[in-house]
Amino acid sequence: MAMGSPAITVDMRDIPGIHHVTAIGSDPGENLAFYTETLGLRLVKRSVNQDDASVYHLFYGDHSGSPGTSMTFFPYPGARDGQVGTGQVSTTQFLIPGDAVEYWVDRLDDADVDVDEPRERFGETVLPFEDPDGLPLELVAVEDAPAGDPPDSPVPEEYAIRGFYGVTLALSDIDATARVLETMGYEQTDSEGNRVRYESDGDLGYVVELLADPDQPQSRPGAGTIHHVAFRVTSDDQADWREELQSLGLRPTQIIDRKWFDSVYTRTPGGVLFEYATEGPGYTVDEDLETLGEQLVLPEWLEDRREEIEQELPPLSVETNN
Ligand code: ZN
Repeated sequence: MAMGSPAITVDMRDIPGIHHVTAIGSDPGENLAFYTETLGLRLVKRSVNQDDASVYHLFYGDHSGSPGTSMTFFPYPGARDGQVGTGQVSTTQFLIPGDAVEYWVDRLDDADVDVDEPRERFGETVLPFEDPDGLPLELVAVEDAPAGDPPDSPVPEEYAIRGFYGVTLALSDIDATARVLETMGYEQTDSEGNRVRYESDGDLGYVVELLADPDQPQSRPGAGTIHHVAFRVTSDDQADWREELQSLGLRPTQIIDRKWFDSVYTRTPGGVLFEYATEGPGYTVDEDLETLGEQLVLPEWLEDRREEIEQELPPLSVETNN
C-alpha cells in the first residue's frame, strides 16, 4: 500500500465482538457478592490495578473467563460516584436465554435490586437494572442463545448469563464513531429513534448501539461508570488494526502486555475509550482452571512487594460460588 493511500482492511479478520468491559466500583466486597452471588458470574481473576496496587482489579466471567464474557472492576473503597453520560459506554448488556426473563425479574427482585419493567427493543426483551454502585446494566433475552460455558453458581445453568450481548455508547454525535465501527467490520442493522444499532458476526458481545442524546450530561469518571470497552482481535491482526486506527486519524497506544492478553487502546472521536485485546493467552496462563480467582495474582514486577500489597488490600472473601 502506497503512503497516503486509503486504508484497506482485506487481510484482517472482522472483529467478532467484545472481549471485556472494565468499570469503576467502590466497595470490593459488595462488588464481588453482586457479580458472583446475584448475577452468577465466576471470579476468574483477582489482581491489582497495575497503576495503583492498593486497589483490586477483579475479573468476572464464564467458567474460564472466555473472551466475550469478562466484566472487570477497579473497586476503589469510598470512591465518589461518577456521572453516566455522553462520551462513554452508558449501558452494558448481558445475554440471557429467551425464556429466562421471568426468572431474572424474580431473582433481581428477591435480591432487592432496583429492576425496571422489561421492555421490547429491536424485537428482543430487555431488562434494565443497576449494580450496587448505580452502574446501568441490562439483560437481553435472545432466542437460540449460545450454550456458552456458565460457571457453577447459584443461577441454574438454563437461565445463566452467557456473556455480553453488547454495549450502548452515549454520544453527542454518532457519525465519527460509526465510521470506526464500520472499519472494524460492524454493520448498521437497525435504528429506533435516536438509537442506531450495529452488529458484528460473533455470537457474544456482537451488538454496539449508538445513542445520540444531546440532553444527556457529559460523563465524568467515578464509581458506577464504565472505564473502557475492549474488542477481540487475534495476535496476528493486532498490529494491523493499530495501523488501521492510525489511518482513521486516531492515536492508538503501543501494544501493551497485560499478561492475560495484549492490548492497544485508543480514544474514539466520540470520547469513548476502546481497547483491542488479543483472545489469548487468557486467564489460565498463570492459574489452574479449577482454582481461578482464589489467589491474588500479581504481575512479576510487583511480586517482591506482595506482602505489603496484601496487607494494604481490604479483605475479600472469594469462597462464594465455586
Ligand atoms: Zn481492558
